[in-house]
Amino acid sequence: MKLVKDKEKCCGCSACAERCPAKAITMTVDEEGFYYPVINEDNCTDCGLCLKVCRNTPLDNGLQNQKYYAVKSRSVADRMRSRSGGFFFELAKQIINDNGAVYGVVMEVDCHVRYKRAATLEEVKLMQGSKYVESDILGIYPYVENDLKDGLRVIFSGTACQVAGLYGYLSLKKVDQSRLVTIDIVCHGVPSRKVLEDYIRFAEKKYKGRIEAFNFRDKSFGWNTHVETYIINGKKRARKNYTNLFYTNLCLRPSCGNCAFASYQRPADITIADFWGLNEKLEGFDDNKGVSAVIVNTQKGTNAFDAIKDCVDIHEVDKETCSQPNLHKPTKIPANRAEFWKVYKEKGFMGVMKAYGRYDLLRRIKWHLIDFRKIKNNR
Ligand SMILES: Cc1cc2nc3c(=O)[nH]c(=O)nc-3n(C[C@H](O)[C@H](O)[C@H](O)COP(=O)(O)OP(=O)(O)OC[C@H]3O[C@@H](n4cnc5c(N)ncnc54)[C@H](O)[C@@H]3O)c2cc1C
Repeated sequence: MKLVKDKEKCCGCSACAERCPAKAITMTVDEEGFYYPVINEDNCTDCGLCLKVCRNTPLDNGLQNQKYYAVKSRSVADRMRSRSGGFFFELAKQIINDNGAVYGVVMEVDCHVRYKRAATLEEVKLMQGSKYVESDILGIYPYVENDLKDGLRVIFSGTACQVAGLYGYLSLKKVDQSRLVTIDIVCHGVPSRKVLEDYIRFAEKKYKGRIEAFNFRDKSFGWNTHVETYIINGKKRARKNYTNLFYTNLCLRPSCGNCAFASYQRPADITIADFWGLNEKLEGFDDNKGVSAVIVNTQKGTNAFDAIKDCVDIHEVDKETCSQPNLHKPTKIPANRAEFWKVYKEKGFMGVMKAYGRYDLLRRIKWHLIDFRKIKNNR
């Protein structure tokens, strides 16, 4: 039986499946590639914990003490690996140096995007950079629980709905959260993993090889541009195919259009985003290598922020300067979303690339020329 009657109301955080004491809930992938919980009635004891643990509802935390900052790491190399100003890495460094654990999202060798636990800086480096796809979170909350029970300091970073899911899980298990610091990212919405997997298959078939590394937004083209790159047969290819599909908003999870957390009311101790529009307010700070917008939401967030503030470049800003679209409302899911998935079902990935992804001859020639120039210049 489906636990979720209305897909717009389920963010796929998996807290219900993790908390179920009877192990009666499995997360299953639907035809669009998103995870949803399904109940095995034979095992269900009707305890109701799956409904109690769900935190996918708007918050009312009060905002009296929120502080807003523009932040960038002093290390350009650290910043280039990250999506914005490298704030996440700076915070993670503190915890790793204190023998703590960091939880975040990596892309594995098979291009599967999932949560991992890091205990070294090399492991944290793999978490840097935004992976614009729904991440696989299954199985990670119990690891956080164990680390907290062992008395470790822990950072957990993810989308706001995933952070809320973790709090639901830990609260119902009555786990002491005093050594946990959470980070949520301002989120446009998560695309389906099916689209990413089909794109990877398409590229591997086209170039007859295996993708060795995939960068969803390669900063070597500048922070303010959006170009995906991948390495295949030793060559770096730059494209906008996946990017174009992402920005149609047609392949986002249905619940992203109904996001409970697209506001200044955040579940995490600290919120991070790309600091767009900064140059108009703070000339010279933005060097097109990335600046993080950081919102400190709680006292725990303030303590964590204070511990690193001498290691990064910072400007305190006002709320209006820090404003980003998804802090005000969810991304609007277009009316033709159902039509997109109908075309996908009938004509497959190439069908939607051609119909919605601006995959035409002129653009294909343009990107091949860019590849050629890059190879010539040995970039
Ligand atoms: C799906 C998605 C949508 C986003 N939409 C916006 C937006 O609308 N506006 C905006 O300003 N910024 C958006 N971002 C970017 C996000 O705000 C940046 O990750 C943030 O600026 C952090 O930058 P950083 O340099 O500190 O961290 P980085 O070093 O880049 O670290 C990235 C952090 O994001 C986490 N992460 C990466 N991919 C995922 C994923 N798929 N699911 C969960 N967590 C992930 C990692 O675990 C890591 O903690 C989005 C990111 C994602 C993943």
